[in-house]
Amino acid sequence: MKPRFTGSFTQQEPIPEAGIAAALEVMRHGRLHRYNTVNGEAGETALLEEEFARFTEAKYALALASGGYAMGCAMRALGVQAGDRVLSNGFTLAPVPGAIAALGAEPVFVETTQALTIDLADLAEKAAVSGARVLLLSHMRGHICDMGALMEICDRAGLTVIEDCAHTMGGAWDGVPSGRHGVFGCYSTQTYKHLNSGEGGFLVSDDDALMARAIILSGSYMLYDRHRAAPPAEVFEQVKYLTPNVSGRMDNLRSAILRPQLADLPAQVARWNDLYRAVEEGLRNTPGLQVIERDARESIVGSSIQFLLPNMGADAIQGVMARSAERGVDLKWFGAEEPVAFTSRYDSWRYAPPQDLPKTDAVLAGLMDMRLPLTFSVEDAALIASIIRDEVMAAA
Ligand SMILES: *Cc1c(COP(=O)(O)O)cnc(C)c1O
Repeated sequence: MKPRFTGSFTQQEPIPEAGIAAALEVMRHGRLHRYNTVNGEAGETALLEEEFARFTEAKYALALASGGYAMGCAMRALGVQAGDRVLSNGFTLAPVPGAIAALGAEPVFVETTQALTIDLADLAEKAAVSGARVLLLSHMRGHICDMGALMEICDRAGLTVIEDCAHTMGGAWDGVPSGRHGVFGCYSTQTYKHLNSGEGGFLVSDDDALMARAIILSGSYMLYDRHRAAPPAEVFEQVKYLTPNVSGRMDNLRSAILRPQLADLPAQVARWNDLYRAVEEGLRNTPGLQVIERDARESIVGSSIQFLLPNMGADAIQGVMARSAERGVDLKWFGAEEPVAFTSRYDSWRYAPPQDLPKTDAVLAGLMDMRLPLTFSVEDAALIASIIRDEVMAAA
């Protein structure tokens, strides 16, 4: 019989014991709301923000209800309004255009390269003609474009950059942590990302006025002085009457779960990358399959892996998926006509005006995607790669 894989592609690791203990403590004292603190107590959320700011080398950090909320909050802080056009990646996940649409703004999608990053030539062109003032840049599936070149294009065009780092928390470009090139970095702590609090997110920034607005937007009321990774009080004086409260705070229970995970993240990143490199090595030199070569300036977080089946038709790709699934390997395909589970394509986001992205279409037609949870071993990763390799070769 052919070897089968029996692990689960959606099973994450348990919460570390230190996180469970800290969560129990919060439940025992009952002060779950971030501003419910007693004499001199900082609170888990304020401490988490301080630690996340240090981790990303940002002046300020804000913990929030979700990654989607973080993106919306960043755009609101920048004054994006209904009817504005906002540039973003044609290849990303639904919460990104969703955050734009939630403001009544209009997503304008930018093409995708074979490296799965934003197409810089198309970006320059759309920056010039779209009238957009903001780029919501999604480092989709952890692929980071040449950030120096991107920032040059955006600076020249007067485009403000917000980074969606849902898949790059713990990653970097040329030594600079992901999320630190734009004015805001947005992160998610949803179960399938790099930290797991069920739901949750972060914003980081060095900008005083923008971060003060984001904190008030998040629902700080006039309690912003309880924050420890926030601009000074006088900055809030200038924005506090003018900034609406759009509640989206993180609570102390989830923060308690996250703090020990954040401390472990560098070690977890190393484990993800061991899995990633094992699958990549196993897939390399498979006829008909193209691995995505990573730039030497990218510090990756291999929590998922992508590869291309560039010359295979839709039926053959579906055959590879079906036979891999029979052998326990759960592949996603970005070329499917209909959105499936978490995977959808820009032409399914019909709240945005119809757009034509032929380069992105060509990439997505052959784009396969697979999660690599840390419940897998390096041996599992090698087995998974050998199964995919077999089944791709059987289709050729
Ligand atoms: C998960 C995700 C988000 C949003 O995060 P939530 O916390 O689920 O709102 C944003 N962008 C990308 C690319 C994501 O995968």
